[in-house]
Amino acid sequence: MINTSIKLEVQTFRMNLECDRLDMKFLAKVINLALFFASWREIERQRRQKYTLDLSSILSAMTAIIPYSKETLSESLAPAKIKWFRRQLSTWAKENLRDFPWRRTSDPYAIFIAEFMLQKTDAATVVPIYETFLVRYPALQDLAAATVDDIAQILKPLGLLFRAERLLQSAQTILEKYQGKIPLSEDKLLKLPGIGIYTARSICANAFNQPLAVLDTNVARILERFFGLKGERVKSRCKLLWKAAESVAPARKVGTWNLTLLDFGATVCTAKNPLCDKCPLQKQCNYANSASLL
Ligand code: SF4
Repeated sequence: MINTSIKLEVQTFRMNLECDRLDMKFLAKVINLALFFASWREIERQRRQKYTLDLSSILSAMTAIIPYSKETLSESLAPAKIKWFRRQLSTWAKENLRDFPWRRTSDPYAIFIAEFMLQKTDAATVVPIYETFLVRYPALQDLAAATVDDIAQILKPLGLLFRAERLLQSAQTILEKYQGKIPLSEDKLLKLPGIGIYTARSICANAFNQPLAVLDTNVARILERFFGLKGERVKSRCKLLWKAAESVAPARKVGTWNLTLLDFGATVCTAKNPLCDKCPLQKQCNYANSASLL
């Protein structure tokens, strides 16, 4: 009797064990199936995304290439339109150019310092730092003898503290190679640490009255919108927009022209919500006229 009962218990235990194994196998199959569907959906999603990305990059490459044809570019930059653009903006500038301390000086050193600070920083933030800086380091020789830490302390509110080291290195190079005088040429300025093409050209135009146009996101935006151009994603490296920036710049007073575009882009043709209704360029602006047709 006892034997029979033990046998039954063992039998039941085995059956339970078998059932557990079966459950586990079933569960494993369900999990595998779920994983298979999940990965299949993920692969499909990525495939679609890749296709979309490929398509959009092809389209943007095409739109960037199309205006490169000489005919299309010269149509967009028709001389009469350029002339009108210049005239309207020059009139606007007479009343609206912003006033900053570095715009009231012709001292190349002060302009060099301002342009260095203005990289990736808005002008209003730069004003007090610029003034403090020039009191502390009134001449290039003073700056070249400073320490990185002292310069960094003053530049701290601007962020991007690596600028302190580059500014010091630039000042020391100018002292050694150019007898303390800010180099007069774009090429020489470009060889200094922390000086890019925009800064080099701004210094040349503002300090030495050289006819060098500049291109940054503000200028690019105005040119693209007004002339209906389509530049590349990185505007500062777009040949089409550089060509346009140089074509629309006047022969004289390019420094003032650069400031005009800069201020116009910062106050009227802004990235978000441009003030088209109050804009002196509205009448011939591609963007404003195509937007009003929608
Ligand atoms: S009309 Fe509008 S988009 Fe065109 S230049 Fe003026 S602010 Fe910019």
